[in-house]
Amino acid sequence: MASLLDGREVAAAIQQQVAEDIASLRQSADVTPRLAVVLNGEDSASQAYVGRKRQAAKTLGIETRDHIFPGGLSEQETLALVRELNDDKSVHGILVQLPLPKGVSEERTLESIDPAKDVDGFHPENLGRLMIGKPTMVPCTPAGILAILDHYKVDLSGRIAAVVGRSRIVGKPVAQLLLARDATVLMAHSRTANLVAITRQADVLIVATGRAGLIRAKHVKSGAVVIDVGVNRLPDGSLTGDVDFAGAAQVSSAITPVPGGVGPTTVAMLMRNTVLACRRQVCAPA
Ligand code: NDP
Repeated sequence: MASLLDGREVAAAIQQQVAEDIASLRQSADVTPRLAVVLNGEDSASQAYVGRKRQAAKTLGIETRDHIFPGGLSEQETLALVRELNDDKSVHGILVQLPLPKGVSEERTLESIDPAKDVDGFHPENLGRLMIGKPTMVPCTPAGILAILDHYKVDLSGRIAAVVGRSRIVGKPVAQLLLARDATVLMAHSRTANLVAITRQADVLIVATGRAGLIRAKHVKSGAVVIDVGVNRLPDGSLTGDVDFAGAAQVSSAITPVPGGVGPTTVAMLMRNTVLACRRQVCAPA
């Protein structure tokens, strides 16, 4: 039976470190990190995510500034707001919660954020820097996944890691991080012809598809480490991952639960990125 990779425990360790960084910034530069949170529209899941991020910031002493528009902003208004936040020196990080309302381009909005304030790490410049191994803002969920693997001392060098899902916010960046740690990385997606043949090779299996229960015991190599990124809401309102937890836990050596796995580390990494952005802007302004 697999052991549990507890994302809440990992998040607590990251937040402890972040709290120390905030204290040191206050002492050395007399500055408090400030995160601008933009919520455009009325998506209920987004409201919940933003609430969680705001609460984490408050607990750590990161100031948040809310820009909440339940009626929705047009693309022009959204871009104007981002420009204003880019120019505001008292704002160190900008979080534009996705998805955006119809008619507002995510692409154009994300690309309008100053890369130095891009705490989600979705700007093409930051993603490009990640790909070539330069200092960057690492997207929060992939960074959280690596933090879980590191916390539980999962060896990556020379091992086979399979990533199921190739999104810009999870699959592709996490593959780059694994590659940078000398894993041999396999990538699968909806057009992969024989998913089982790919996933069963993996010593470390990372699943980010948004398909509840896609990965079952037969997909998992004996003794593999399984990271389930998926968050899917069942008709009864409960949350479940992309992995059939009970089945995969019989075969794997360690596995993340949903909830309580990757999710908490994502929020912790957003806090870490906000403090990092603040430190870079205050201590080494461009
Ligand atoms: P996307 O919808 O952007 O991407 C899903 C990926 O999964 C695509 O690359 C798609 O392939 C692939 N896929 C879909 N169906 C299959 C299949 N049957 N077999 C193999 N691959 C498949 O999702 P995200 O990356 O944004 O999110 C994935 C999941 O992770 C969601 O449940 C989301 O809620 C969750 N999530 C959780 C976070 C957390 O903090 N815990 C943070 C971010 C996301 P193709 O490219 O071919 O379409």
